[in-house]
Amino acid sequence: MKTDPKNTNVVIIGAGVSGLTLAAFLQKSGISCMVLERRDRAYIQTRQRAGVVEARGVQMFERWGLADQLLGGPVAQTIDYRVNGASRIFEVIGEDGSPGRFCTQQMLVNNLLREVIDTMGGAVVFDVADISISNEANQHPRVNYTDADGFHEIQCDYIAGCDGDHGVSRPSIPHGVLTKYSHEFGYAWLAAHVAAPVTGHPIMAISDHGFVAQLPRGPQRSRYYLQCSLSDGPEDWTDARFWDEIRLRLNDSRIENTVVYDKLIVPLRCVVHSPMQYRNLFLAGDAAHLVPPTGAKGMNLALYDVGMLAQALVSAIRDQNATALEKYSDTCLPHIWNYQDFSVWMTDLMHDAGDAAQQGKFRQLIARARLDNLFNSPTARRLHSEFQRGMV
Ligand SMILES: Cc1cc2nc3c(=O)[nH]c(=O)nc-3n(C[C@H](O)[C@H](O)[C@H](O)COP(=O)(O)OP(=O)(O)OC[C@H]3O[C@@H](n4cnc5c(N)ncnc54)[C@H](O)[C@@H]3O)c2cc1C
Repeated sequence: MKTDPKNTNVVIIGAGVSGLTLAAFLQKSGISCMVLERRDRAYIQTRQRAGVVEARGVQMFERWGLADQLLGGPVAQTIDYRVNGASRIFEVIGEDGSPGRFCTQQMLVNNLLREVIDTMGGAVVFDVADISISNEANQHPRVNYTDADGFHEIQCDYIAGCDGDHGVSRPSIPHGVLTKYSHEFGYAWLAAHVAAPVTGHPIMAISDHGFVAQLPRGPQRSRYYLQCSLSDGPEDWTDARFWDEIRLRLNDSRIENTVVYDKLIVPLRCVVHSPMQYRNLFLAGDAAHLVPPTGAKGMNLALYDVGMLAQALVSAIRDQNATALEKYSDTCLPHIWNYQDFSVWMTDLMHDAGDAAQQGKFRQLIARARLDNLFNSPTARRLHSEFQRGMV
């Protein structure tokens, strides 16, 4: 049964970090919006992924007056880079020397849900299905969906596609409008949560046996990432094999087996879809691009997009000035390519320097010389921080 269309300024598809951050910023600016999410609330509240909001993101939440409400956790300032067991503590800081914050994506999403729904009274509809988008020239966009109450139609001014890489927004754009640029690294990471906290600094470790990282995910948990083959499945990694390989790659026989909660294979790849807009539909976050997790930039890039999109939508709707919205894609893409550049550089360096079977002994030694330079030469450190600075 078709109901009368509801109206709102912006329909946001997807209640991940992108969609909920955009909803919080728009509501704070008095712009009406509605978030449609295909999963239930419990699922998105427990989905674990990223762990650090970098300095730029922290400053963005501060500017919108939401940092205290949304960001928990201590400052994130250091990484312990280990090469065959030898440790070097590296400072990770933002453009102006300020640090990021340890705030798991799960914590951020939970805080956003509380802020958007409970504090601001916003509309987030969970468990929606069959979303379809009508985005014709010279007409108000419409979004149809079904939920437990039946069929709904919403008429709006703009649609934000924040529904990740497997959503419906991007596929709704006619064939030939977007160009997809992609790069495959040829290997994957096994990602697993364990019942053991990071005891010192977060670790990125290079060894002759391959790459491993251990990153904080709360007071009692951490996440390990182990380089593995693209053809591996989680079932190939018994808990015993998992812990043996961690001890080997971290060169530390004292590490004890603890509970492993989940195992996920993440193929390492980069993707950019360009442009990030079509008529009144705007893509943000993973719906528009993917980066490998090596540089920890995916969530941060999503936050950058929605910061830009929120400002542009507020100007267009509240101030009747659509200039920034028309330039949204052109504004975001240079930044996205900088992040891709950093992520590719970091991913190649970390993996080439590890197992020589990856790219050969020559490339391994070159990569290790580069790492030595980075750790020991003030000039290389300066270049590295300028490289980071170029991204912000
Ligand atoms: C294992 C792993 C580790 C990562 N580690 C890091 C890290 O350390 N640092 C970092 O910065 N980034 C990291 N990332 C990347 C980061 O998690 C993503 O970049 C981020 O989640 C993007 O947010 P998003 O809101 O754009 O997309 P998503 O988080 O994917 O959210 C999209 C939402 O849309 C919903 N949706 C999808 N389809 C539909 C539909 N048809 N209708 C309605 N809703 C729909 C989904 O259910 C989801 O809730 C990691 C990713 C993975 C997988």
